[in-house]
Amino acid sequence: MNVIPRDQHCISRTHISDSALKVMSRLRGQGHQAYLVGGAVRDLLLGGHPKDFDIATDATPEEVHQLFRNSRIIGRRFRIVHVRFGREIIEVTTFRGHHDNGEADARANSGNHSRQSASGMLLRDNVYGTLEEDAVRRDLTVNALYYDAGTFEVYDHVHGLEDLEKRHICIIGDPQVRFREDPVRMLRAVRFAAKLDFGIDSDTAAAIPECAHLLRDIPAARLFDEFLKLFLSGYAAATLEQLLRHDLLQFLFPETSELLLEDEHYLALVRAAMANTDERIAQDKPVTPAFLLAALLWPVASRLASQLEARGEPPMPAMHSAAQQTIAEAVQFVSIPRRFSQPMREIWEFQLRLKKRQGKKAAELLEHRRFRAAYDFLLLREQAGEETDGLGDFWTQYQHLAPQDRHRQPERDGPRRRRRPRRRRSNKSE
Ligand code: ATP
Ligand code: MG
Repeated sequence: MNVIPRDQHCISRTHISDSALKVMSRLRGQGHQAYLVGGAVRDLLLGGHPKDFDIATDATPEEVHQLFRNSRIIGRRFRIVHVRFGREIIEVTTFRGHHDNGEADARANSGNHSRQSASGMLLRDNVYGTLEEDAVRRDLTVNALYYDAGTFEVYDHVHGLEDLEKRHICIIGDPQVRFREDPVRMLRAVRFAAKLDFGIDSDTAAAIPECAHLLRDIPAARLFDEFLKLFLSGYAAATLEQLLRHDLLQFLFPETSELLLEDEHYLALVRAAMANTDERIAQDKPVTPAFLLAALLWPVASRLASQLEARGEPPMPAMHSAAQQTIAEAVQFVSIPRRFSQPMREIWEFQLRLKKRQGKKAAELLEHRRFRAAYDFLLLREQAGEETDGLGDFWTQYQHLAPQDRHRQPERDGPRRRRRPRRRRSNKSE
């Protein structure tokens, strides 16, 4: 174990949340070990501001829970304790130990601790251990650094610091074994490579194509959680490129993944949606998974709708069934809660309604709660090179008309004929 004293690293307690310091100090006061670990140590060493603070301890979840009234034990596959301070949640994890297959399987149904599937996937991981054991059970070397807020030392058991300096994403241990235990680690590897702008170690990268198919065994609900982290953390554009480079998008959105290869407009649309989301997050504007999902699944839905129209279905019913089918297929891979699939669908259907430029109808659309998102989506399609007959410009100008002038707006007016350079979205966005 490499111990880095306080004067040889840049972590300062002042950058650590008071709540996290409180939790660690209480645990230490009770004779336990407690360290800051994971993303917080990584981001502090990189000079950034961690978004949350995870703590590792030798206290069991029950012991932790007893020490903090404001806590609860969560998880089954992986039991941890959440300690709540107002809106902030400190995640406290008990050191994980080695899991021995045979023995663990024998205990599988008796309050057991660890369980693996035939492919080597860890179904449960609740065997507790020491700090050293915990370090090698983590996913990436740069995520396995520990900070002791009592001694101010950093503990490094897996060359995490070296990889931080080399800007390297490297899985701990044998990549194939570790990806088999938990295929989501492949998505985590590309996510952190994108977020930190790090390269992926060649052995780690080489194991991805070998193990990628195992992502099919991951429950759709867990992939939805991962989807949120991949695309709503402010690095969606870079993450998309990593997913494409490592051919992993197909395990999240299989049909989209194929269509992106076939049609560069679709790729441009999805890229634009990602860039747009990152920009909004950077500006502290709200983002919704519904909009991003609308973009990611638009290639599938719009192609299906055109096929149905070609078979004689009127546009709106065609879009309606296309949306239904697209969602039904997509949720087999990444589950989409109704609170997101419903607005997503409305954004799509609105694309047809936006074609109606007549005065009264148009004025009504403007009042609709989905107008903003649908209009943004229309601009995105145009930005990706889709020909919409000047519809974006029409709506941009229409919004700026005084209400009494809106119903007078003739169906086809100036904007269509005047060829203007492509506009950026109006900055009245929010
Ligand atoms: P961030 O919170 O910035 O996204 P993080 O590194 O803190 O990054 P979390 O998902 O919060 O990521 O996980 C906390 C830590 O738990 C990680 O740093 C890693 O050490 C460990 N970890 C998380 N998921 C896994 C996994 N699937 N396999 C092994 N270790 C994991
Ligand atoms: Mg974290």
